[in-house]
Amino acid sequence: MRRYFPLLLALALFVAGLIFFLLPKDTPTPPAPTPPPTLPTGPALSSLAETPDWSALETIDNQLSSTEFMSDLVGIFALPNSWQSSIKVEDESVVVRHHHGPDGGFTRLPFPEQPQEPNSLPPLDQMHIAIDPGHIGGDYAVLEQRNFAPFGDDPDQMPVREGELALATALHLKPLLEEMGAKVTLVRETNEPVTQSRPEDFLPDFPDRLMAEKIFYRTAEIRARGELVNEVIQPDLVLCLHYNAEAWNDEENPWAERNHFHVLLHGAYMAEELALDDQRFEMMRHLLNRTTRRALPLAQTISDVFLRDTGLVPFQYTPAAPAIQVDATRPIFARNLLANRIYEAPTIFLEPYVMNHREVYDRVQLGDYEGFREIDGVKRRSLVREYAQAVANGFTEFYTNPPH
Ligand SMILES: [Zn+2]
Repeated sequence: MRRYFPLLLALALFVAGLIFFLLPKDTPTPPAPTPPPTLPTGPALSSLAETPDWSALETIDNQLSSTEFMSDLVGIFALPNSWQSSIKVEDESVVVRHHHGPDGGFTRLPFPEQPQEPNSLPPLDQMHIAIDPGHIGGDYAVLEQRNFAPFGDDPDQMPVREGELALATALHLKPLLEEMGAKVTLVRETNEPVTQSRPEDFLPDFPDRLMAEKIFYRTAEIRARGELVNEVIQPDLVLCLHYNAEAWNDEENPWAERNHFHVLLHGAYMAEELALDDQRFEMMRHLLNRTTRRALPLAQTISDVFLRDTGLVPFQYTPAAPAIQVDATRPIFARNLLANRIYEAPTIFLEPYVMNHREVYDRVQLGDYEGFREIDGVKRRSLVREYAQAVANGFTEFYTNPPH
Protein backbone atom coordinates (compact mmCIF):
# COMPACT_ATOMS: atom_id res chain seq x y z
CA MET A 1 0.00 0.00 0.00
CA ARG A 2 2.77 2.40 1.00
CA ARG A 3 4.33 1.85 -2.41
CA TYR A 4 1.29 3.38 -4.09
CA PHE A 5 0.95 6.33 -1.73
CA PRO A 6 2.81 8.91 -3.87
CA LEU A 7 0.82 7.80 -6.88
CA LEU A 8 -2.51 8.13 -5.07
CA LEU A 9 -1.47 11.54 -3.71
CA ALA A 10 -0.60 12.73 -7.21
CA LEU A 11 -3.93 11.46 -8.52
CA ALA A 12 -5.87 13.16 -5.71
CA LEU A 13 -4.07 16.46 -6.36
CA PHE A 14 -4.77 16.15 -10.08
CA VAL A 15 -8.49 15.56 -9.49
CA ALA A 16 -8.69 18.45 -7.00
CA GLY A 17 -6.97 20.73 -9.51
CA LEU A 18 -9.28 19.63 -12.26
CA ILE A 19 -12.35 20.32 -10.12
CA PHE A 20 -10.98 23.74 -9.20
CA PHE A 21 -10.25 24.49 -12.85
CA LEU A 22 -13.72 23.46 -13.95
CA LEU A 23 -15.58 25.35 -11.21
CA PRO A 24 -17.14 28.57 -12.42
CA LYS A 25 -15.06 31.50 -11.28
CA ASP A 26 -18.04 33.82 -10.75
CA THR A 27 -21.09 32.77 -8.82
CA PRO A 28 -23.81 32.61 -11.52
CA THR A 29 -27.07 34.45 -10.93
CA PRO A 30 -29.80 31.93 -10.11
CA PRO A 31 -32.15 31.32 -13.04
CA ALA A 32 -35.46 33.16 -12.96
CA PRO A 33 -38.17 30.90 -11.49
CA THR A 34 -39.93 29.09 -14.33
CA PRO A 35 -43.72 29.01 -14.32
CA PRO A 36 -45.28 25.67 -13.37
CA PRO A 37 -45.66 23.33 -16.36
CA THR A 38 -48.77 24.31 -18.30
CA LEU A 39 -51.25 21.71 -19.42
CA PRO A 40 -52.97 22.43 -22.70
CA THR A 41 -55.87 24.70 -21.79
CA GLY A 42 -57.98 23.87 -24.81
CA PRO A 43 -59.16 20.47 -26.01
CA ALA A 44 -56.91 18.14 -27.97
CA LEU A 45 -58.68 17.33 -31.24
CA SER A 46 -58.37 15.03 -34.24
CA SER A 47 -57.52 16.49 -37.63
CA LEU A 48 -60.28 18.85 -38.91
CA ALA A 49 -62.47 18.03 -35.87
CA GLU A 50 -64.57 20.57 -34.00
CA THR A 51 -64.68 21.09 -30.23
CA PRO A 52 -67.47 18.86 -28.90
CA ASP A 53 -70.53 20.26 -27.19
CA TRP A 54 -70.46 18.11 -24.06
CA SER A 55 -73.95 19.18 -23.03
CA ALA A 56 -75.26 17.12 -25.99
CA LEU A 57 -74.55 13.96 -23.95
CA GLU A 58 -77.02 15.13 -21.29
CA THR A 59 -79.83 15.20 -23.85
CA ILE A 60 -79.43 11.49 -24.68
CA ASP A 61 -82.08 9.30 -23.07
CA ASN A 62 -79.64 7.00 -21.30
CA GLN A 63 -81.23 3.57 -20.80
CA LEU A 64 -78.10 1.67 -19.76
CA SER A 65 -77.47 0.33 -16.27
CA SER A 66 -74.04 0.82 -14.74
CA THR A 67 -73.25 -2.86 -15.38
CA GLU A 68 -74.28 -2.69 -19.04
CA PHE A 69 -72.36 0.54 -19.55
CA MET A 70 -69.25 -1.11 -18.16
CA SER A 71 -69.72 -4.28 -20.19
CA ASP A 72 -70.16 -2.34 -23.47
CA LEU A 73 -67.26 -0.04 -22.58
CA VAL A 74 -64.78 -2.90 -22.19
CA GLY A 75 -66.44 -5.42 -24.51
CA ILE A 76 -67.02 -3.15 -27.53
CA PHE A 77 -65.75 0.38 -27.21
CA ALA A 78 -62.44 0.66 -25.40
CA LEU A 79 -59.23 -1.32 -25.77
CA PRO A 80 -57.59 -2.34 -22.46
CA ASN A 81 -56.12 0.52 -20.37
CA SER A 82 -57.44 3.19 -22.71
CA TRP A 83 -60.28 4.83 -20.78
CA GLN A 84 -59.37 4.84 -17.07
CA SER A 85 -57.81 8.31 -17.00
CA SER A 86 -60.85 10.08 -18.45
CA ILE A 87 -63.93 8.02 -17.56
CA LYS A 88 -65.14 6.88 -14.15
CA VAL A 89 -68.02 4.44 -13.86
CA GLU A 90 -69.92 4.46 -10.56
CA ASP A 91 -73.09 2.68 -9.48
CA GLU A 92 -75.27 5.76 -9.90
CA SER A 93 -73.55 7.63 -12.72
CA VAL A 94 -70.66 7.84 -15.14
CA VAL A 95 -68.29 10.78 -15.13
CA VAL A 96 -66.42 11.75 -18.29
CA ARG A 97 -63.64 14.26 -18.25
CA HIS A 98 -63.40 17.12 -20.70
CA HIS A 99 -59.97 18.33 -21.79
CA HIS A 100 -57.14 18.90 -19.34
CA GLY A 101 -56.29 22.39 -18.10
CA PRO A 102 -57.81 25.19 -16.04
CA ASP A 103 -61.11 25.37 -17.94
CA GLY A 104 -61.49 21.61 -18.42
CA GLY A 105 -64.51 20.26 -16.58
CA PHE A 106 -66.44 17.04 -16.61
CA THR A 107 -69.90 15.74 -17.37
CA ARG A 108 -71.77 13.48 -14.96
CA LEU A 109 -74.48 11.30 -16.47
CA PRO A 110 -76.85 9.43 -14.16
CA PHE A 111 -77.87 5.84 -14.87
CA PRO A 112 -81.66 5.27 -15.01
CA GLU A 113 -83.56 3.55 -12.23
CA GLN A 114 -85.24 1.29 -14.79
CA PRO A 115 -82.73 0.35 -17.51
CA GLN A 116 -84.19 -0.73 -20.87
CA GLU A 117 -83.14 -3.12 -23.63
CA PRO A 118 -81.78 -1.37 -26.73
CA ASN A 119 -84.39 -0.52 -29.38
CA SER A 120 -84.22 -2.85 -32.32
CA LEU A 121 -83.86 -1.46 -35.85
CA PRO A 122 -87.17 -0.39 -37.41
CA PRO A 123 -89.03 -2.71 -39.80
CA LEU A 124 -87.85 -2.45 -43.42
CA ASP A 125 -90.85 -0.46 -44.62
CA GLN A 126 -90.09 2.17 -41.99
CA MET A 127 -86.35 2.13 -42.44
CA HIS A 128 -84.23 4.73 -44.19
CA ILE A 129 -80.87 3.23 -45.18
CA ALA A 130 -77.87 5.28 -46.31
CA ILE A 131 -75.49 3.29 -48.50
CA ASP A 132 -71.98 4.69 -48.42
CA PRO A 133 -69.86 3.32 -51.26
CA GLY A 134 -66.31 3.43 -49.86
CA HIS A 135 -63.61 5.63 -51.44
CA ILE A 136 -63.98 7.80 -54.56
CA GLY A 137 -62.69 6.00 -57.67
CA GLY A 138 -62.55 7.65 -61.12
CA ASP A 139 -59.93 10.37 -61.50
CA TYR A 140 -59.14 10.05 -57.79
CA ALA A 141 -58.44 6.29 -57.69
CA VAL A 142 -54.67 6.69 -58.10
CA LEU A 143 -54.43 9.60 -55.66
CA GLU A 144 -56.41 7.72 -52.97
CA GLN A 145 -54.22 4.64 -53.57
CA ARG A 146 -57.16 2.52 -54.61
CA ASN A 147 -56.07 1.72 -58.17
CA PHE A 148 -54.41 -1.61 -58.52
CA ALA A 149 -52.97 -2.73 -61.87
CA PRO A 150 -50.57 -5.66 -61.36
CA PHE A 151 -49.93 -5.96 -65.11
CA GLY A 152 -48.96 -2.32 -65.56
CA ASP A 153 -50.53 -0.54 -68.51
CA ASP A 154 -51.65 -3.72 -70.33
CA PRO A 155 -54.71 -2.38 -72.22
CA ASP A 156 -56.45 -5.77 -71.93
CA GLN A 157 -56.47 -5.57 -68.14
CA MET A 158 -58.93 -3.50 -66.18
CA PRO A 159 -57.37 -1.75 -63.17
CA VAL A 160 -59.05 -2.76 -59.91
CA ARG A 161 -60.57 0.37 -58.34
CA GLU A 162 -62.25 -0.14 -55.01
CA GLY A 163 -64.22 3.12 -55.22
CA GLU A 164 -65.78 2.08 -58.53
CA LEU A 165 -66.55 -1.48 -57.43
CA ALA A 166 -68.20 -0.13 -54.27
CA LEU A 167 -70.40 2.29 -56.24
CA ALA A 168 -71.40 -0.39 -58.78
CA THR A 169 -72.34 -2.65 -55.85
CA ALA A 170 -74.35 0.12 -54.18
CA LEU A 171 -76.26 0.81 -57.42
CA HIS A 172 -77.31 -2.88 -57.52
CA LEU A 173 -78.12 -3.04 -53.81
CA LYS A 174 -80.34 0.06 -53.74
CA PRO A 175 -83.23 -1.36 -55.83
CA LEU A 176 -83.02 -4.72 -54.02
CA LEU A 177 -83.57 -3.02 -50.65
CA GLU A 178 -86.23 -0.71 -52.10
CA GLU A 179 -88.17 -3.75 -53.35
CA MET A 180 -88.31 -4.90 -49.73
CA GLY A 181 -89.87 -1.58 -48.75
CA ALA A 182 -86.87 0.35 -47.43
CA LYS A 183 -86.08 3.93 -48.35
CA VAL A 184 -82.51 4.06 -49.64
CA THR A 185 -80.19 7.01 -50.25
CA LEU A 186 -76.69 6.75 -51.67
CA VAL A 187 -74.04 8.89 -49.98
CA ARG A 188 -72.37 9.30 -53.39
CA GLU A 189 -73.81 8.50 -56.82
CA THR A 190 -70.75 9.17 -58.99
CA ASN A 191 -67.03 8.51 -58.80
CA GLU A 192 -66.48 12.09 -57.61
CA PRO A 193 -65.69 13.43 -54.14
CA VAL A 194 -68.54 14.48 -51.85
CA THR A 195 -66.40 17.23 -50.32
CA GLN A 196 -66.08 20.57 -52.09
CA SER A 197 -62.45 20.74 -50.93
CA ARG A 198 -59.57 19.65 -53.14
CA PRO A 199 -56.00 18.63 -52.20
CA GLU A 200 -54.69 22.10 -53.18
CA ASP A 201 -56.87 23.68 -50.48
CA PHE A 202 -54.76 21.98 -47.82
CA LEU A 203 -51.38 22.89 -49.31
CA PRO A 204 -50.97 26.03 -47.17
CA ASP A 205 -51.36 23.96 -43.98
CA PHE A 206 -49.58 20.85 -45.23
CA PRO A 207 -46.69 21.98 -47.44
CA ASP A 208 -46.10 18.40 -48.53
CA ARG A 209 -48.32 17.51 -51.51
CA LEU A 210 -48.80 13.90 -50.33
CA MET A 211 -49.93 15.07 -46.90
CA ALA A 212 -52.41 17.50 -48.47
CA GLU A 213 -53.79 14.66 -50.61
CA LYS A 214 -54.18 12.40 -47.58
CA ILE A 215 -56.03 15.07 -45.62
CA PHE A 216 -58.29 15.49 -48.64
CA TYR A 217 -59.30 11.86 -49.20
CA ARG A 218 -58.89 10.41 -45.71
CA THR A 219 -60.29 13.25 -43.63
CA ALA A 220 -62.07 16.06 -45.53
CA GLU A 221 -63.92 13.62 -47.79
CA ILE A 222 -65.09 11.44 -44.90
CA ARG A 223 -66.10 14.47 -42.82
CA ALA A 224 -68.16 15.81 -45.74
CA ARG A 225 -69.93 12.45 -45.96
CA GLY A 226 -70.54 12.58 -42.21
CA GLU A 227 -72.22 15.98 -42.52
CA LEU A 228 -74.37 14.77 -45.42
CA VAL A 229 -75.40 11.61 -43.56
CA ASN A 230 -76.07 13.20 -40.16
CA GLU A 231 -77.63 16.47 -41.26
CA VAL A 232 -79.34 15.75 -44.58
CA ILE A 233 -80.02 12.02 -45.03
CA GLN A 234 -80.56 11.26 -41.30
CA PRO A 235 -80.87 7.50 -41.86
CA ASP A 236 -81.77 4.75 -39.40
CA LEU A 237 -78.81 2.69 -40.59
CA VAL A 238 -75.65 3.24 -42.64
CA LEU A 239 -74.17 0.48 -44.81
CA CYS A 240 -70.54 1.13 -45.78
CA LEU A 241 -69.54 -0.98 -48.76
CA HIS A 242 -65.86 -1.82 -49.21
CA TYR A 243 -63.68 -4.43 -50.85
CA ASN A 244 -60.65 -5.74 -49.01
CA ALA A 245 -57.00 -6.25 -50.00
CA GLU A 246 -54.08 -8.14 -48.49
CA ALA A 247 -50.36 -7.50 -48.39
CA TRP A 248 -48.69 -9.05 -51.44
CA ASN A 249 -47.30 -12.52 -50.97
CA ASP A 250 -43.80 -13.63 -52.10
CA GLU A 251 -42.55 -13.00 -55.64
CA GLU A 252 -43.12 -16.53 -56.87
CA ASN A 253 -46.81 -16.41 -56.03
CA PRO A 254 -47.72 -12.79 -55.27
CA TRP A 255 -51.49 -13.33 -55.07
CA ALA A 256 -53.17 -13.30 -51.68
CA GLU A 257 -53.82 -16.78 -50.32
CA ARG A 258 -57.19 -16.32 -48.70
CA ASN A 259 -60.34 -14.72 -50.05
CA HIS A 260 -62.07 -13.63 -46.88
CA PHE A 261 -64.89 -11.62 -45.34
CA HIS A 262 -65.46 -9.57 -42.22
CA VAL A 263 -67.83 -6.98 -40.78
CA LEU A 264 -66.79 -3.90 -38.84
CA LEU A 265 -68.94 -2.20 -36.24
CA HIS A 266 -67.95 0.88 -34.30
CA GLY A 267 -65.75 0.67 -31.19
CA ALA A 268 -62.24 -0.40 -30.07
CA TYR A 269 -60.82 3.01 -29.17
CA MET A 270 -57.12 3.20 -28.34
CA ALA A 271 -55.74 5.27 -25.43
CA GLU A 272 -54.34 7.92 -27.77
CA GLU A 273 -57.73 8.23 -29.45
CA LEU A 274 -59.58 8.61 -26.15
CA ALA A 275 -57.09 11.33 -25.20
CA LEU A 276 -58.67 13.44 -27.97
CA ASP A 277 -61.79 15.33 -26.90
CA ASP A 278 -63.78 14.83 -30.08
CA GLN A 279 -63.15 11.06 -30.07
CA ARG A 280 -63.91 10.66 -26.36
CA PHE A 281 -67.16 12.54 -26.96
CA GLU A 282 -68.08 10.41 -30.01
CA MET A 283 -67.39 7.22 -28.08
CA MET A 284 -69.67 8.32 -25.25
CA ARG A 285 -72.40 9.25 -27.72
CA HIS A 286 -72.23 5.89 -29.53
CA LEU A 287 -72.09 3.99 -26.25
CA LEU A 288 -75.12 5.79 -24.76
CA ASN A 289 -77.08 5.58 -28.03
CA ARG A 290 -76.13 1.88 -28.29
CA THR A 291 -75.47 2.19 -32.00
CA THR A 292 -73.19 -0.85 -32.10
CA ARG A 293 -75.56 -2.98 -29.99
CA ARG A 294 -78.43 -2.03 -32.31
CA ALA A 295 -76.48 -2.89 -35.48
CA LEU A 296 -75.13 -6.20 -34.15
CA PRO A 297 -78.10 -8.59 -34.74
CA LEU A 298 -78.46 -7.53 -38.40
CA ALA A 299 -74.68 -7.69 -38.84
CA GLN A 300 -74.75 -11.25 -37.49
CA THR A 301 -77.35 -12.38 -40.01
CA ILE A 302 -75.66 -10.58 -42.91
CA SER A 303 -72.38 -12.26 -41.90
CA ASP A 304 -73.93 -15.76 -41.86
CA VAL A 305 -75.72 -15.27 -45.19
CA PHE A 306 -72.71 -13.65 -46.88
CA LEU A 307 -70.40 -16.51 -45.93
CA ARG A 308 -73.00 -19.07 -47.01
CA ASP A 309 -73.80 -17.40 -50.37
CA THR A 310 -70.29 -16.49 -51.50
CA GLY A 311 -68.02 -19.20 -50.10
CA LEU A 312 -65.67 -16.59 -48.64
CA VAL A 313 -63.82 -17.59 -45.46
CA PRO A 314 -64.03 -15.68 -42.15
CA PHE A 315 -61.23 -13.17 -41.62
CA GLN A 316 -59.31 -13.01 -38.34
CA TYR A 317 -57.27 -10.07 -37.04
CA THR A 318 -53.90 -10.64 -35.40
CA PRO A 319 -54.06 -10.23 -31.59
CA ALA A 320 -52.09 -6.96 -31.78
CA ALA A 321 -54.60 -5.25 -34.13
CA PRO A 322 -56.66 -2.40 -32.60
CA ALA A 323 -59.88 -4.39 -32.96
CA ILE A 324 -62.30 -6.15 -30.61
CA GLN A 325 -64.12 -9.26 -31.81
CA VAL A 326 -67.69 -8.58 -30.69
CA ASP A 327 -69.07 -12.00 -31.65
CA ALA A 328 -67.08 -15.05 -30.60
CA THR A 329 -68.30 -17.21 -33.49
CA ARG A 330 -68.48 -14.70 -36.36
CA PRO A 331 -65.97 -12.42 -38.13
CA ILE A 332 -67.53 -9.28 -36.62
CA PHE A 333 -65.11 -6.78 -35.13
CA ALA A 334 -65.34 -3.36 -33.53
CA ARG A 335 -62.91 -0.80 -34.92
CA ASN A 336 -62.64 2.94 -34.57
CA LEU A 337 -62.54 4.37 -38.10
CA LEU A 338 -63.36 7.96 -39.00
CA ALA A 339 -65.87 6.50 -41.48
CA ASN A 340 -67.86 4.72 -38.77
CA ARG A 341 -67.20 7.10 -35.86
CA ILE A 342 -68.73 10.23 -37.31
CA TYR A 343 -71.95 8.57 -38.53
CA GLU A 344 -74.41 9.00 -35.69
CA ALA A 345 -76.70 6.16 -36.86
CA PRO A 346 -75.88 2.46 -36.35
CA THR A 347 -73.32 1.59 -39.04
CA ILE A 348 -72.45 -1.76 -40.63
CA PHE A 349 -69.20 -1.71 -42.55
CA LEU A 350 -68.62 -4.65 -44.92
CA GLU A 351 -65.19 -5.91 -46.00
CA PRO A 352 -65.72 -8.89 -48.32
CA TYR A 353 -63.48 -10.15 -51.20
CA VAL A 354 -59.71 -9.73 -51.34
CA MET A 355 -59.04 -7.73 -54.51
CA ASN A 356 -55.54 -9.13 -54.94
CA HIS A 357 -56.76 -12.70 -54.64
CA ARG A 358 -56.52 -14.21 -58.14
CA GLU A 359 -60.16 -15.29 -58.28
CA VAL A 360 -61.44 -11.82 -57.36
CA TYR A 361 -59.04 -10.17 -59.80
CA ASP A 362 -60.27 -12.43 -62.61
CA ARG A 363 -63.90 -11.71 -61.73
CA VAL A 364 -63.21 -7.95 -61.87
CA GLN A 365 -61.78 -8.53 -65.37
CA LEU A 366 -65.10 -10.17 -66.40
CA GLY A 367 -66.87 -6.89 -65.60
CA ASP A 368 -70.53 -6.59 -64.66
CA TYR A 369 -73.03 -8.87 -66.41
CA GLU A 370 -76.62 -10.04 -66.07
CA GLY A 371 -77.47 -13.54 -64.94
CA PHE A 372 -74.82 -16.16 -64.25
CA ARG A 373 -71.52 -17.30 -65.73
CA GLU A 374 -69.57 -20.40 -64.96
CA ILE A 375 -66.48 -19.72 -62.84
CA ASP A 376 -64.41 -22.78 -61.88
CA GLY A 377 -67.40 -24.98 -62.62
CA VAL A 378 -69.82 -22.89 -60.51
CA LYS A 379 -72.49 -20.57 -61.93
CA ARG A 380 -72.00 -17.16 -60.41
CA ARG A 381 -73.33 -13.63 -60.73
CA SER A 382 -70.96 -10.80 -61.56
CA LEU A 383 -68.83 -9.85 -58.56
CA VAL A 384 -70.70 -6.63 -57.77
CA ARG A 385 -74.12 -8.27 -58.17
CA GLU A 386 -73.15 -11.25 -56.01
CA TYR A 387 -72.08 -8.80 -53.27
CA ALA A 388 -75.32 -6.78 -53.54
CA GLN A 389 -77.46 -9.93 -53.59
CA ALA A 390 -75.72 -11.41 -50.54
CA VAL A 391 -76.38 -8.22 -48.53
CA ALA A 392 -80.01 -8.16 -49.68
CA ASN A 393 -80.41 -11.85 -48.77
CA GLY A 394 -79.04 -11.00 -45.33
CA PHE A 395 -81.80 -8.40 -44.87
CA THR A 396 -84.46 -10.85 -46.08
CA GLU A 397 -83.24 -13.52 -43.68
CA PHE A 398 -83.05 -11.06 -40.77
CA TYR A 399 -86.58 -9.80 -41.25
CA THR A 400 -88.15 -13.22 -41.90
CA ASN A 401 -86.23 -15.19 -39.24
CA PRO A 402 -85.04 -12.63 -36.73
CA PRO A 403 -82.33 -13.99 -34.39
CA HIS A 404 -83.30 -14.56 -30.78
ZN1 LIG B 1 -62.00 0.31 -48.45
